[in-house]
Amino acid sequence: MSETFNQHVFNSAHFRRSYHTDRPLGSFCGPKGTQFRLWAPTAQEVVLRLWAAGTGDCLLRTISLDRWEKGIWRHETPENLDSTYYDYLVTVDGATRATADPYARAAGCNGQRSMVIQLERTNPPAWEQDAPPPLPPENIIWEMHVKEFSWDPASGVPEDYRGKYKALTLTDTTLNGDGIHPTCLGWLKELGVTHIQLMPVYDYATVDEGGDPAMFNWGYDPLNYNVPEGSYATDPADGAVRIRELKEAIQSLHRAGFRVIMDVVYNHTYYLDSWLWRTVPWYYLRQESDGTPSNGSGCGCDLASERSMVAKYILDSVLYWAEEYHMDGFRFDLMGLLDVRLMNRIRKELDDRYGVGEKILLGEPWSAGSTATRMGTRLSDKWHMNNLDPGIAAFVDNTRDMVKGNLWHEDSRGLVNGGTVDPEYLACCISGWSDCPNSWLQAPTQAINYLSSHDDWTLWDRLVYTGDPSRNFEGHQEALLRQNKMAAVTLFSCIGNLFLLSGEEFARTKKGVKNSYNSPLDIGMLDWTRAWENIDLARWYRGLIALRKSLPGLTDKSPKAADRMRFFWSPAANCTALLWDNSGGDCPWNTLLMVFHGGTEPLSLPLPAGRWAVLVDHTSTDKWRAPDTVRESVRIPPGSAWILASRERS
Ligand code: CA
Repeated sequence: MSETFNQHVFNSAHFRRSYHTDRPLGSFCGPKGTQFRLWAPTAQEVVLRLWAAGTGDCLLRTISLDRWEKGIWRHETPENLDSTYYDYLVTVDGATRATADPYARAAGCNGQRSMVIQLERTNPPAWEQDAPPPLPPENIIWEMHVKEFSWDPASGVPEDYRGKYKALTLTDTTLNGDGIHPTCLGWLKELGVTHIQLMPVYDYATVDEGGDPAMFNWGYDPLNYNVPEGSYATDPADGAVRIRELKEAIQSLHRAGFRVIMDVVYNHTYYLDSWLWRTVPWYYLRQESDGTPSNGSGCGCDLASERSMVAKYILDSVLYWAEEYHMDGFRFDLMGLLDVRLMNRIRKELDDRYGVGEKILLGEPWSAGSTATRMGTRLSDKWHMNNLDPGIAAFVDNTRDMVKGNLWHEDSRGLVNGGTVDPEYLACCISGWSDCPNSWLQAPTQAINYLSSHDDWTLWDRLVYTGDPSRNFEGHQEALLRQNKMAAVTLFSCIGNLFLLSGEEFARTKKGVKNSYNSPLDIGMLDWTRAWENIDLARWYRGLIALRKSLPGLTDKSPKAADRMRFFWSPAANCTALLWDNSGGDCPWNTLLMVFHGGTEPLSLPLPAGRWAVLVDHTSTDKWRAPDTVRESVRIPPGSAWILASRERS
């Protein structure tokens, strides 16, 4: 078959009718025996190979599979093959290729062979009772990489656990083990975020699991979508260990009061020559009209989510992680490459199983380039947020760039670092880009407001670029810390969900490196000594996090929440003030006055009538715990953001 011909066949309704199946795929074992099911409708022959180990020359036997219904090949045996490794030889158009099982749920070292697994035996004690904490009043997500989190020896994490899932089970680590200054989980509990977002913990390709422990990668290079990454396990060779240890980590995070979000990368495979490709060549991939693989991901192999068995593959995977690992949410990498229909279906299936909104869904509403979809496919990008369920959220780049400058231009400046911001634009940011001019979101549920993520510069490094000609990334420049504080107040004033890169709260630096996806760990690791050096900034974030959870006007996610904005005006150059209805719940403050002063001169701001309590000023985010009262006017220094409140309704 020519490659162009394939696309027409695979896109056709006839192919879908002939070969679509909803049956479970993969391998399943228990006391009653073991089943293997591989969907390979274009194959002429499929041979199953059983191995004694995940690597090495240890073939046990080979078994020719039977072709069953809908293109499924299967083998059943009364034996319980738990812990047996396996792969397939798939012959298509006369070419025979060895492949692991695309549906594998366990694998050996480096994921080259799959493993039959009886999953119940991977459950840690009390796993059946494991449950996430209740839904919080606000979703405040902290994005973490497993290895970066605990690699620093100063973290106090024992060497065997550094960079591993196991570090997430430790609740009492302190700086250099001093017993005084919490690090890792203890730090997070004091910070008060509500969700921990794990950067890829599925099995990715580029770190040698049996090699140098200091090898590093972000992990956006999927190898086995339904298997945990082995380099974070204490033993990558035994396929059961990584499963148990990831479950232990999730259980520990739940016990510590956090929900857990998993970063998923269904938009591309690392290799064109993936297990999916070897099993059903070209079916899973988008192609240009001349047959070349579509490259909207920048990785040369976009998955064709609009085809029914690709959609099934992705949906099955999400549901599996939710059910087997108790994941509380999913962050879709380059969501703009996945079709709207699939994303809405994922939302619905999770809502049906777990309750509406119980699992959070978010994604990047863009791609790295254009992609070749079947005609009529709508993609989950910025232009189609209205077609997506309101319970699917997207990263709001507008707000990020308003605060600190355009991402793509090093010299670009925003509100906090000397840029000029249009008050109406700022008001849209506060409104979570819903129900305002040029809004692109349906409701604040769809907004993920953020200042920094793993991509690009940390917030601190960005501020060094625009504010320190000497580029002293490891410094603690007062002027830049003030900018960071103003940025944080601005972020926490925006309605919608909130998101922080791990360490943003302590002026984390990657020493000016923008794309640190495979940088040595001294660039990306969380520096717990620096965390405590910048404890003043971290306390600033803690105050904002606690305050935010108590303000009904800002946690409101209803579609009309932006109507709470009563008025905005510009009292001085590059300064915006907003009156915001905060009524609801048992909060005593019915009206908020938020002031974002990016100008260069002190401002004497006339206040609306009555008494105003200062919740946040330029010195503290904890004022609200025992607020000062002001009347008539207030003096606001340049380069600061304030939140005041009144009991009066606006
Ligand atoms: Ca791996």
